Amino acid sequence: MDKFEQTMESVAKKSPKEQADLIADFKSKCPCPSCPTYNNCASKASEKLFCVTGKSFMCISDDKGCSCPQCSLGKEVGLKHQKFCIKGSEMAQRYENTLWGTSLNR
Ligand code: SF4
Ligand code: SF4
Repeated sequence: MDKFEQTMESVAKKSPKEQADLIADFKSKCPCPSCPTYNNCASKASEKLFCVTGKSFMCISDDKGCSCPQCSLGKEVGLKHQKFCIKGSEMAQRYENTLWGTSLNR
């Protein structure tokens, strides 16, 4: 089990209120708004924390680079993927890799 899977397991054991508080805390720390790919549409829709929430809903499709690899929050929870606003959440990208028979990059 890698760091991300351990994080998910520990989050799953928390109460719904604790989970909601944790997500709100992560969202407040997410530096996506300073990324070149982030745009006004996403800002107006309060979209952030795409690594957890998944793809941007109708706002972001133009890839201008991704700041996720430099994100301390991403390192803290053990993310291995990036460009979550366009490609989907960490969980979705891992599942896609599994489906297509590639590795989880353990
Ligand atoms: S997920 Fe990555 S590419 Fe998308 S806005 Fe956040 S830092 Fe930028
Ligand atoms: S890894 Fe990317 S989407 Fe997740 S909190 Fe950091 S900047 Fe935001």
